Amino acid sequence: MIPLLIAGVLVAALGAYWVLMSPYSQAFGNYPYRGDASERVVALTFDDGPNEPYTSQIVEYLNSRNIRATFFQVGHCVERSPETTARIDASGHVIGNHSLTHRFSTYLRPARFEREVQQTQEILRRTLGRTPALVRSPWLWRQPMMLRMLRGNLLQPVAGVFCHAFEVFQIDATKIARRAVAKTRPGTILIFHDGFDARGGDRSQTVRAVEITTEALLAQGYQFVTVDKLLRVPAYFES
Ligand SMILES: [Zn+2]
Repeated sequence: MIPLLIAGVLVAALGAYWVLMSPYSQAFGNYPYRGDASERVVALTFDDGPNEPYTSQIVEYLNSRNIRATFFQVGHCVERSPETTARIDASGHVIGNHSLTHRFSTYLRPARFEREVQQTQEILRRTLGRTPALVRSPWLWRQPMMLRMLRGNLLQPVAGVFCHAFEVFQIDATKIARRAVAKTRPGTILIFHDGFDARGGDRSQTVRAVEITTEALLAQGYQFVTVDKLLRVPAYFES
């Protein structure tokens, strides 16, 4: 009886995870983790930055390969290094909104999350001179009210595929890259972390993994696009 009960709880928990957090769950509406698969394209995305010097190292590498990517940035991190965000934008990369504090407790109350999204929009508007239209919630958290709120604000939620489940622990770059390449299909939105929560920290294995992954995908004939181009949606509001 007890083992059955435990099994039941586990199944329910897994089900809840699938519905609320899994990149592939579309249970509460459109939260795309991939785009059109008819072309051999992939969108590299970076969460939780800016976080120096790692963010600039990634950007420098991408620029040297003439590749443009999408950076979902945390409002408090942008406030700490607005010049990094401005420089990423000036290089032709796309900036999206990834909340203000990246704190889990915030996302349990949609009204609180809405305030965080709007405060980050304001910070990015000041930094970029325009307002992003792409949003990624921390941990790809979703629920119906939140997605309705984003749609109500004309914001496009963007999910994706995590490069490696243990990237957060900064395991060896070659391991991260091998998994990232294996997960990539035409149209995939791939998620790396140039930061960690709103706290930053060492991301040197990610920097290296991005280079290895990108070189492997280039060798496989992939082209790189920003998320707005992949999903055919605007990256910014017209002002
Ligand atoms: Zn995040």
